[in-house]
Amino acid sequence: MPLGSGHPIAVQSMTTTPTGDVAATVAQVRRLAKAGAAIVRLAVATLAEAEALKAIRREVETPLVADIHFNARLALAALEAGVDKVRLNPGNMPAGEDLYGVIDAAGERGVAIRIGVNSGSVMPREGSIAEQARRHTPREIAERMVDAVQRYLELFESRAFRDIVLSLKGSDVPTTLQAYRLIAERCDYPLHVGITAAGPHQEAVLKSALGLGALLSEGIGDTLRVSITGDPLREVQVGRRMLEVLGLAPLGGVEIISCPTCGRREVNLALLAERVWEATRTIRTPLRVAVMGCVVNGPGEAREADLGVAAGRGFGVLFRHGRTTNEKVPQDQLFERMMAEIHRLTN
Ligand code: SF4
Repeated sequence: MPLGSGHPIAVQSMTTTPTGDVAATVAQVRRLAKAGAAIVRLAVATLAEAEALKAIRREVETPLVADIHFNARLALAALEAGVDKVRLNPGNMPAGEDLYGVIDAAGERGVAIRIGVNSGSVMPREGSIAEQARRHTPREIAERMVDAVQRYLELFESRAFRDIVLSLKGSDVPTTLQAYRLIAERCDYPLHVGITAAGPHQEAVLKSALGLGALLSEGIGDTLRVSITGDPLREVQVGRRMLEVLGLAPLGGVEIISCPTCGRREVNLALLAERVWEATRTIRTPLRVAVMGCVVNGPGEAREADLGVAAGRGFGVLFRHGRTTNEKVPQDQLFERMMAEIHRLTN
């Protein structure tokens, strides 16, 4: 799978099932791929899990990445199992014969390696990450991350290995921005961008949208992961949507335009917009749907929508392409009526 050099930016995520549970992991990889994940990473903490990768590899087409920490034998076993990339962390896989063994084995197989540092793994052990963040500026932390990556890179290049992806994730936006901007100036390897341990849903989406949005709009980033605590399907949906919103991927689903509501609103618009949004996440046909709070401004403000509703007192008027159809739908039937129209237009 090509990364960088103008190829589409690949959204990726990571399974949350135990990798040793082949059936559950295969099911989750398929679910993530169906939602738009181009690459899926799996945690490999034991030799039994590395062994399980063989069976998983046979069942799915999606490029698989083995996430390895501390133990070079796990990396060798994952390569043996047929993974497409191995992720190593310089903070826990130091220079030495073990690392060279992994680099050479990956080189022989044509398998890529991601060198992935995060801010926590490059700082001296002098208290919690929060304390370190208070003691050091984002620039200082970013420079340490870049230095760690560059030192590690030299080891790979000394073995003529260049099939490399880099990631330098901070757990806050300013550090992450500085680290990626610095490394992008200094080398030309494909970059996997992300904010590490970004938090629960709303917090993670906010940090990722600001951090990755800034980087991607500067042309930095060839593959991304939006890290969200919980179901990885959300990560893929948010990642895909970020690329669509930035105009870096074609619109591939239903976009909801809804007004913020004001004193003119006469129905529970927030609930309707939320329900339509939730019910349309799996539709992949491009469609713009407007949910507007009143007939005064609704149709005009949503002129570019394919389908919309402008709510009145206890009813909603359907409109297409900014023009009303004069069809008045009672409030309690609005959701069903809109969904029927959406399915008609996307099937
Ligand atoms: Fe207010 Fe109507 Fe505009 Fe919504 S569409 S913000 S209800 S004026």
